Amino acid sequence: MSNIGFIGVGKMGAPMVGNLVSAGHTVTVFDVSSHALEEAKKRGGRIAKNLTDVASSKEVVITMLPAGPEVKAIYLGPKGITSIVDSATLLIDCSTIDVQSSEVIHSSARSAGIDMVDAPVSGGVSGAEAGGLTFMVGGTEAAYNNAFPILSDMGKAIIHAGKEGRGQAAKICNNMLLGISMIAVSEAFALADALGLSRQTLFDISSKATGRCWALNDYCPVPGPVPNSPANRNYEPGFTASMMLKDLALSQLAADAFRVKTELGSDAEALYSKFCKAGNGELDFSAIFTTVGKEGEVK
Ligand code: NAD
Repeated sequence: MSNIGFIGVGKMGAPMVGNLVSAGHTVTVFDVSSHALEEAKKRGGRIAKNLTDVASSKEVVITMLPAGPEVKAIYLGPKGITSIVDSATLLIDCSTIDVQSSEVIHSSARSAGIDMVDAPVSGGVSGAEAGGLTFMVGGTEAAYNNAFPILSDMGKAIIHAGKEGRGQAAKICNNMLLGISMIAVSEAFALADALGLSRQTLFDISSKATGRCWALNDYCPVPGPVPNSPANRNYEPGFTASMMLKDLALSQLAADAFRVKTELGSDAEALYSKFCKAGNGELDFSAIFTTVGKEGEVK
């Protein structure tokens, strides 16, 4: 069993810590939020005093932070963890960030002789709670093999996506697909409402027909058909609309940089941007249903 440092114990990080503890690892946690630390403590994490405390003398250090700037701040510079950890430590960044930032962090770790993988996840808070996450792993074959047993304690599918940063590339493509499909499912329910077709009936049919997809079958944006989806608890997240907007923006940055035309991705970014600007950023991203198909502006 390993001695693990875990930085960023929010909605995703805390349940991931719980699964590592259940698997028998010793997990030390660090976060800037005292509320998040308390939540991780309830799940068996030991609270670290500071970054040095969480990162030094650990076999593995995992980060699960909001976005690229926070991840760079934690990893880089004289006070960053690539300067703190031993060369025997394996670094695993599970946050969703842009490919370029990920490559910069990999390069800093490599210069210090430290093994690292980027390993963003899919599956949401329910997947994190159930230990059922999918990990998309970027890095060398050796680093992937090292990370595999630890990631297996938090997930069910651990897929090597390629060299450094390619885990992030896979995540950005996946979440562009998810943002588009959540809007598409929402539009189908809005049309069904107008046509007098019950939501449950549309669900019963489309979840078994060619319209089936995760946004419909597992995370249905209308209350009722999928009892544990955020729609049944006033769209309490889950995965916030502002996080979805962040990922769609990453997808569009990449699409622009590599001259790929992703028209639906661009439309999805515009819709989520409008939704967040209207004050809905902290709702679950499936709450986009409440504005889709309505004439005029978002509420
Ligand atoms: P969150 O905001 O709930 O958790 C992030 C945590 O990081 C917070 O507790 C915050 O206090 C902490 N933090 C921020 N800056 C810090 C710093 N400098 N030092 C230490 N701690 C710091 O976010 P989340 O929903 O858990 O998402 C985390 C990452 O996982 C994001 O990159 C997100 O895109 C990705 N993700 C989230 C979901 C989901 O369903 N929530 C699904 C897949 C991927």
